[in-house]
Amino acid sequence: MSNRIAVYPGSFDPITYGHLDIIHRGMKVFDELIIAVARNSEKKSLFSIDERLAMIRDTIGENGKVRVDTFDGLLVDYVMSQGARVILRGLRAVSDFEYEFQIAQMNHSVQEEVETLFMMTAVPYGYLSSSIVKEVAALKGPVDTFVPPAVKKALQHKLGRNE
Ligand code: ADP
Repeated sequence: MSNRIAVYPGSFDPITYGHLDIIHRGMKVFDELIIAVARNSEKKSLFSIDERLAMIRDTIGENGKVRVDTFDGLLVDYVMSQGARVILRGLRAVSDFEYEFQIAQMNHSVQEEVETLFMMTAVPYGYLSSSIVKEVAALKGPVDTFVPPAVKKALQHKLGRNE
């Protein structure tokens, strides 16, 4: 068991350059980063779990420091089961704070061994979210600055092409 393993949980529906920025920075801080896609999120998703995993794997490529996985049930139970003690989350605009604060407190009260650590978003991604990307893509707007090419392709496939 080690503090140097962090779990980066989320919906990743789909993965964006904002997520990737947190992943790359997280890799510098931790020995191993587990990207954990939530199976039981109440959010209605556009992409299936398998599609989301494929897009993440496609984007990250082979990387010995990163593992891609799914989880259901309590996040802190999953974190403990992986021998990790840290949950990594990204913080964007002030609007993220209230929600993240609640979840982090809840997780800590359920399992005090597990700490949630936050990384501030990088400036270009401060207002970038999977939801915004899906909205823009549905309206046939350009998403090149928000998501990697493979994700752009998947969005076009799912939502209909522009050209
Ligand atoms: P969730 O449904 O758990 O919020 P998301 O996939 O939306 O899942 O986000 C996963 C994590 O990535 C969250 O901590 C979120 O704050 C962070 N994140 C998402 N987009 C960005 C971004 N543009 N910059 C920094 N962090 C981000």
